[in-house]
Amino acid sequence: MHAIQKALHSLVIALNRFLSILLPDRIPVTFVGAEASRELCQSIAQTGVKKPLIVTDAGLVQLGIVARVTSALADAGVESAVYDGVEPDPTFDQVNAGFAQLERDGCDAVIAVGGGSPMDAAKIIGAMATNGGKAEKLVGTFKVRKAPLPLYAIPTTAGTGSEVTLVAVVSDSKTHIKGFVVDPKLLPDMAALDPTLMVGLPSHITAATGMDALTHAVESFIARTSNARTEAWATAAVRMVFQNLPKACADGTDLEARKAMSLASYYAGLAFTRTSVGYVHAIAHTFGAYYGTPHGHANAIVLPHVLDFSKGAARDRLAALADVIGVGGGGPEQKAQAFIEAVRELMARIDIPYTLSDLREEDIAPIAKQALGEAAFNYPVPRFMSQPEAEGLIREILA
Ligand code: NAD
Repeated sequence: MHAIQKALHSLVIALNRFLSILLPDRIPVTFVGAEASRELCQSIAQTGVKKPLIVTDAGLVQLGIVARVTSALADAGVESAVYDGVEPDPTFDQVNAGFAQLERDGCDAVIAVGGGSPMDAAKIIGAMATNGGKAEKLVGTFKVRKAPLPLYAIPTTAGTGSEVTLVAVVSDSKTHIKGFVVDPKLLPDMAALDPTLMVGLPSHITAATGMDALTHAVESFIARTSNARTEAWATAAVRMVFQNLPKACADGTDLEARKAMSLASYYAGLAFTRTSVGYVHAIAHTFGAYYGTPHGHANAIVLPHVLDFSKGAARDRLAALADVIGVGGGGPEQKAQAFIEAVRELMARIDIPYTLSDLREEDIAPIAKQALGEAAFNYPVPRFMSQPEAEGLIREILA
């Protein structure tokens, strides 16, 4: 059974690799730096947008971050409306409420202001506006038939890279199981990486989201679908995370570190949206569904365990990453191990635990099953994982 699954998996990966060549390969126009969000607003005005809906969360309104965007739009002569009902891991109920407001306020574009949660919600709301208004019908691959409303992204965390990806994640309002809307039409038209919007991001969220970016880069780099272009983005992201994440966590006002982390997240997004991710994401998504573990935090805890599991098959790739960050000596095996140890040291420096206190022994088998179900035929992992192997790996994460 395992051998048949393994062979089928290889076949589907080969097919995915071929199909990915046929996908449109657009990168959003991107402004970078302390003036980036203002410059983006000026550009939005120039495109003739009349009244965009800003999709965000209540915390960002309270922090005054949304006001910076609405006033930059007003200065450029553009009226706007604000939907601030998005919460971490947005649900169908939340995107439905945002879509209702978009219709009520007669908006003609969508601006995401926030982390991955508002960015994903904005992508779905913009697609609902031109595709019949039913978010459930968009879940799956290539289900967005018509071009969404113009979409602009202003990330306020440096982690998900959603500003450059063709995926949006929306959770079932009751079970919290994540659904994936995957379509090149979801790609924003423009984005702004503005480090000044991130100075108030608390250290623990900076750490978790930064580890999300690292996970994207590493899973993309070791994926069987990677190529020279995605490898260049992924290695840039890995280098920048190791150099800048501890600085951004220690001093949130360090604008150079914040900017570098925004770019690292962006590069990692460019890489993984072309290669897909791997078992770290499959297991982390399931932790999110079971325990509400924040996405980046869950990824961080799982990452070293999956790298330990993959290090035979991905030895040379991990050794190359050791060279990128300048750790390890000796042969590829020692270097691969040194990279995994460097990930653990990074986690210790930024106060991310190695275990998940919410995890329960009785949940391990169903978590493993759900994660392997997500990964099967989707993720181009270097080493295929069986149910007992997945259970063993997850058991290592018990506190
Ligand atoms: P998030 O958007 O859920 O935000 C987490 C918290 O940080 C919120 O409370 C928010 O108010 C706060 N916050 C955000 N920016 C802030 C700032 N500048 N200052 C102070 N507080 C701030 O977190 P996230 O990790 O960015 O996004 C996670 C979501 O993204 C998950 O739902 C995940 O599934 C999704 N995701 C999507 C993609 C994609 O490509 N579409 C990739 C990875 C993850």
